Amino acid sequence: MFTKILIANRGEIACRVIDTCRRLGVRTVAVHSDADARARHVEMADQAVGLGGAAPADSYLRGDAIIAAALKTGAQAIHPGYGFLSENPDFVDAVEAAGLVFIGPSAKAIRAMGLKDAAKDLMAKAGVPVVPGYQGADQDAVHLAREADKIGYPVLIKAVAGGGGKGMRKVEAADGFADALDAARSEAAKAFGNDHVLIEKWITTPRHIEVQVFGDGTRAVHLFERDCSLQRRHQKVIEEAPAPGMTEDMRAAMGAAGVRAAEAIGYAGAGTVEFIVDGADGLRPDGFWFMEMNTRLQVEHPVTEAITGVDLVEWQLRVASGEALPARQEDLSITGHAFEARLYAEDAAAGFLPATGTLTHLRFPEGARADTGVRPGDVISPWYDPMIAKVIVHGPTRATALLQLERALAGTQVAGTVTNLSFLRKLSRQADFVRGDVDTGLIDRDMVTLSAAPVPCTKARSLAALGALGLNRGQTGEGVHLWAPLGWTQKLTRGDEEITVRVEALGPGHFRSYVGEASHEITRDGGWRVDGEPVPAEIGHGPGAVHVFWGNVYSFDVPDPLAVAAAGGAASGVVEAPMPGLVKAVFVEAGAEVAAGARLAILEAMKMEHTLSAPRDGVVAEVLVAAGAQVEAGAALVRMEEAAEG
Ligand code: ADP
Repeated sequence: MFTKILIANRGEIACRVIDTCRRLGVRTVAVHSDADARARHVEMADQAVGLGGAAPADSYLRGDAIIAAALKTGAQAIHPGYGFLSENPDFVDAVEAAGLVFIGPSAKAIRAMGLKDAAKDLMAKAGVPVVPGYQGADQDAVHLAREADKIGYPVLIKAVAGGGGKGMRKVEAADGFADALDAARSEAAKAFGNDHVLIEKWITTPRHIEVQVFGDGTRAVHLFERDCSLQRRHQKVIEEAPAPGMTEDMRAAMGAAGVRAAEAIGYAGAGTVEFIVDGADGLRPDGFWFMEMNTRLQVEHPVTEAITGVDLVEWQLRVASGEALPARQEDLSITGHAFEARLYAEDAAAGFLPATGTLTHLRFPEGARADTGVRPGDVISPWYDPMIAKVIVHGPTRATALLQLERALAGTQVAGTVTNLSFLRKLSRQADFVRGDVDTGLIDRDMVTLSAAPVPCTKARSLAALGALGLNRGQTGEGVHLWAPLGWTQKLTRGDEEITVRVEALGPGHFRSYVGEASHEITRDGGWRVDGEPVPAEIGHGPGAVHVFWGNVYSFDVPDPLAVAAAGGAASGVVEAPMPGLVKAVFVEAGAEVAAGARLAILEAMKMEHTLSAPRDGVVAEVLVAAGAQVEAGAALVRMEEAAEG
């Protein structure tokens, strides 16, 4: 076994690899960009080396700098994770030329699977069923159109160098072929520097089922299948293992095909052979076709780990360090069912726009595996994939595992950025998915319901107001100070919506709220009780915001009462006390000329001093209070008038 390795990656996968290294007593070297200098993977590793700027081209894609870092720190091997340099055969060559071990397949194996057209040819020769289509060298548009006719519409145009769904176009009929070809080619040229395409029969109700394989360079075993049919724009959203409805016959056939594919290219390490299955036809041993092989550890590998009990990273390290395959095929079996959901900083309601932000709050529930590269306080930056975590559950049956997934998502608390959490949670309860009736079109068919932003009920709004008022913490009776009134009016905003909640204190930890037409009685002793019913809600605070974690995350902005007062004052010319308090000091006299922002007075309230400043340029017409006065919210303090012209 190695004594020290370098991990040429970031985020959750770098942390995931370090976890296993720690368990095995292997020391670790992290690499990082400037933007990641204090990232979780850097903190977890024994050593860290900076690579350069935030852009991947200046850091995580700099193979030469990574190899130099490994040599300098005395690492014996490099784990590439996924993405970045993981499937770059030139990098593998360079690693080996430097006398280091690449933890993954040979450059030759990666090249064999690197282009979809060559890979399909190779697989067909090895006896692996491939999707019917054209993958020849003749790229003439007229010729390709003729091949599409032969295959029969609809067809799918795919960039041979493609990945991540880029350079892919579905074509419904012959008259749309030329335009789609142009679009696919230009996208492919931009993304991959290679505009060659292949054409495939479009499978109408496709299911994406992939086989996890593991090779030692000669022999291979498989660790069964994963179903990744829940996709959005060809991106996986929730994955599971085993595949729902899978039969023993078909599993054996797919596993054998996966092993044949791996052995055909002398595969070493962890790999995934992706197949497409026609869901309309049901699962039949002859009803699956090879799409492509991913020559690396896959994002969704944890579901396989959950059902097999194998640590795939440990296997990677063992085999790369020269040990034999850790298990024979007959030693491997499936226990229970596992799901993985990908938690992203993205706005589902706004077309899944990637989001950024500082994670002011982040907590994962007990009982689920959360693979993450971020901690509370970390930033989701625009530089990298906005994945926050993968939430993984494992149960004895599919039904129990799915309930666990729903519960785990409901118990996940994240604030500071918009996320797809509500989308994932709705998906985990979607009827077809619950039945195991999955195909790659499922999400799109139900998109309107799944992507709608969750709307907080009046109970959640009331709790948010209590949070904004600071009534959710402290000792019993807190917040009800002698000077304070027994009621407060709290304004909250959610986007464009303004929410006003009136809260009255009925006793220690006992309140009544009024929101719109609704009114609730709320008690707090340990947990929350609303109208007599216990509710599993928790309240979190962020800068200028309050969050109610209650199955979903409901975030509210809390308008700065001083800003509100200033804005109101700006219109009326009267500066009011934004909250009840003690006037500590008054800095102006009638007749004084003040500029916008000038200090007028200090109000002490909620144990803090608040400066009240002039909302605009003007002249103080009247000072209505003196230092030492106790004032109510809304009390007029200073009246201003326009500065005389000239
Ligand atoms: P990429 O490498 O860009 O991810 P893949 O070849 O893996 O592309 O295909 C991505 C997804 O596109 C698949 O998971 C499947 O949902 C869909 N897909 C691929 N080939 C076909 C096909 N022939 N018919 C229908 N859908 C397909």
